Amino acid sequence: MKTIVLAGAGHANIVLVRRLAGFSGARVVLVNDGRFAWYTGALPALIRGDVPADAARIDNVALASACGAEFVDARFLGFDERAVHLADRPPIGFDFLVVSTGGAGVPGGVKPIPALLERIEVLAARAAPKMGILGGGAAGVELALALRVRLGPAAGIFVGAETVLPAAPRRVRQIAASAMQKARIAVARDLPAGLDDVIHAYTPVPALAVGADLRVAGYNNVFAAGDAARFTPLLPRSGAMAVRQGRLIERNLRRALRGQRLVPFMAPDNVLAILSLDSTRAVAWYGGLSWSGRGPMRVKRWLDGRWK
Ligand SMILES: Cc1cc2nc3c(=O)[nH]c(=O)nc-3n(C[C@H](O)[C@H](O)[C@H](O)COP(=O)(O)OP(=O)(O)OC[C@H]3O[C@@H](n4cnc5c(N)ncnc54)[C@H](O)[C@@H]3O)c2cc1C
Repeated sequence: MKTIVLAGAGHANIVLVRRLAGFSGARVVLVNDGRFAWYTGALPALIRGDVPADAARIDNVALASACGAEFVDARFLGFDERAVHLADRPPIGFDFLVVSTGGAGVPGGVKPIPALLERIEVLAARAAPKMGILGGGAAGVELALALRVRLGPAAGIFVGAETVLPAAPRRVRQIAASAMQKARIAVARDLPAGLDDVIHAYTPVPALAVGADLRVAGYNNVFAAGDAARFTPLLPRSGAMAVRQGRLIERNLRRALRGQRLVPFMAPDNVLAILSLDSTRAVAWYGGLSWSGRGPMRVKRWLDGRWK
């Protein structure tokens, strides 16, 4: 029997654990540095207090057990051609490895999410906290708006960015800018001095270069996906992209086990993005098309619920 090790419970590996359930040709081992896989898409709702923690995380122990996989709670340190190396544990040999450990950690970053939630609670306990968010992409904007709800009207909230949502359609940028103005969130290239905390809301360029079939350069039996994988051309860092990559890797794992040629990942030109503005309204865009109001928020809630 072949051993497939899934390092990191990122979106692609969650897809793989589920899709390989009942696959008799392999032993599947999921390794994650903690019992829970947090779902960033539901993080703003969790910060606003709209959903409980359990709606924003997957229990890896329960998932693995339901899917006939093994779960190892350990920190993944790296790999060679035949084994993964873990902190404080013996290595695990593999026939195939899939790395889905997310983006490289940024000091003061969004992940690990439990640490971020603790930082927010510390700020929420102050009378008038001053919070900075570095990065004006979708993550930075959505976090800033959610923090206004969590920290209340007395908090100072500042976004450090030249502009917000530079890659989104003009109408979406206008809607986001107007929501931020109403929420009294200041946007400027430089953050002011004297802030209580700064969240770094950006993901560095991924370290692991992958080829067209998502195998890591130089390895026949190692795949990588999501924010951990550097695809050419560089892809937007999104959970939706990571899920698609997980589906392709499942197909390629089955093909590799049958000795067939692997197929390439066809990156979509556009993926649907939905940014929550508050508890009831969101703005969505797909390529140049956009839609705002309660409708996209209902779609977002449905998509977030499906992930669980
Ligand atoms: C506020 C916010 C909102 C977002 N909203 C959306 C959205 O609505 N839709 C969307 O598509 N994208 C969204 N994104 C982007 C999306 O969350 C990321 O691109 C996505 O999380 C991709 O991550 P991943 O699957 O590669 O890994 P992650 O989701 O980061 O998961 C990595 C997993 O690996 C584990 N891990 C990490 N290092 C190790 C290690 N060394 N050893 C063992 N385990 C390890 C982690 O604990 C984690 O469980 C949002 C991001 C933010 C910040």
